[in-house]
Amino acid sequence: MNMNTDYYQIDDLLTEEHKLVRQSVREFVQQEIKPVIDKYAQAHTDIPDLMKKLGSIGALGPYIPEEYGGAGLDQISYGLIMQELEAGDSAIRSSASVQSSLVMFPIHEYATEEQKMKWLPKLASGELVGCFGLTEPNHGSNPGGMETKFVDKGDHVILNGAKMWITNSPIADIAVVWAKDEEGIVRGMVVEKEMEGFSAPETPNKWSLRASKTGELVFENVKVPKENLFPNIKGLKGPLSCLNSARYGISWGVIGAAIDCYETALQYSLERTQFGKPIGGFQLQQKKLAEFLTEITKAQLLCWRLGTLKNEGRATPAQISMAKRNNVKMAIDIARESRQILGGMGIVGDYPMMRHAANLESVITYEGTHDVHLLITGMDITGINAFS
Ligand SMILES: Cc1cc2nc3c(=O)[nH]c(=O)nc-3n(C[C@H](O)[C@H](O)[C@H](O)COP(=O)(O)OP(=O)(O)OC[C@H]3O[C@@H](n4cnc5c(N)ncnc54)[C@H](O)[C@@H]3O)c2cc1C
Repeated sequence: MNMNTDYYQIDDLLTEEHKLVRQSVREFVQQEIKPVIDKYAQAHTDIPDLMKKLGSIGALGPYIPEEYGGAGLDQISYGLIMQELEAGDSAIRSSASVQSSLVMFPIHEYATEEQKMKWLPKLASGELVGCFGLTEPNHGSNPGGMETKFVDKGDHVILNGAKMWITNSPIADIAVVWAKDEEGIVRGMVVEKEMEGFSAPETPNKWSLRASKTGELVFENVKVPKENLFPNIKGLKGPLSCLNSARYGISWGVIGAAIDCYETALQYSLERTQFGKPIGGFQLQQKKLAEFLTEITKAQLLCWRLGTLKNEGRATPAQISMAKRNNVKMAIDIARESRQILGGMGIVGDYPMMRHAANLESVITYEGTHDVHLLITGMDITGINAFS
């Protein structure tokens, strides 16, 4: 019997710091997430004080420099943190991803020094919760079509429009919002919860990511001070750069969900007896388990290499698309198939497969759908745009 999910000794490629970071997040997930996650997911609500807890273990903005409250870690460490959190639940990883890559990253990259000092340390500690508004009711895969817009009024702008499917919007203190100016140029800004005309109603009845809240962002003549606009970025490359960082984290994160399913199925297959022997002794079940570990190993290698390229500033958006697409599909396939190994037991909340499978339906859709990432790879290799 070999319960090891590091089949190709990828640990040899990690530093001591990487392993320590992974171990501390793994312990946090074992103690704080796994014992309660089914209860919160079933109740369709978020874990109280989750963001502060994530902040206390350095899981928010891990690669943001320490002077701004981050942990100053590298991209492999960031990936490993996402992997361990998603072994707990994709909703937990999503909250950390959004705060790190979609809120802290653009503030760090594009804001003024004053804005960085104002928001980053509190976001890193979880004292403030952030969300990211790009998707709109009429524009998901094609964010360039966005209709949310603002007009210049001297020392402030007036913002109008709506965003949809926004992770953590109902609990967020600030929102990084992308909107068009009067010339149609996309700009980023921070909208604060208490601003008049701004609301963030919750989207009810989700079957997926039930342990995190999702909602809208509605702007009705919201007066946003000019100092909340990011001065250092114009155009869609602003939000797309954030998505690159988040998609990279997702590529690692889903490996955690896949490993959780694989380990549960392997253990169950060795304990459950039918026709006089453990079901893990039947060829059909072994085929599933062997293929799970093969796919997990391939995904681990893809991520490790992508992480080293990202550390060197050489990872391309198309490479990140390939990893996001491949790894999320790998994880959702393992969640669905591993559930079958548990037979009827696979559908109850005592085991994580149904929850992971349902969560991964969102993960395969958000941050660029499975099909959109294929089109990105297709365009990269042919030079021909098949989007429109
Ligand atoms: C739980 C959850 C959380 C989310 N969190 C956030 C968030 O925090 N912030 C944020 O801004 N957004 C968020 N999103 C939105 C997410 O990124 C979008 O749902 C996603 O980009 C797809 O957009 P859409 O839902 O409008 O689908 P559409 O764009 O309408 O796509 C519908 C289908 O058409 C396909 N399609 C679209 N264009 C093409 C094409 N050119 N060729 C072939 N097929 C195509 C798609 O692949 C898809 O299968 C979240 C979504 C979910 C479900």
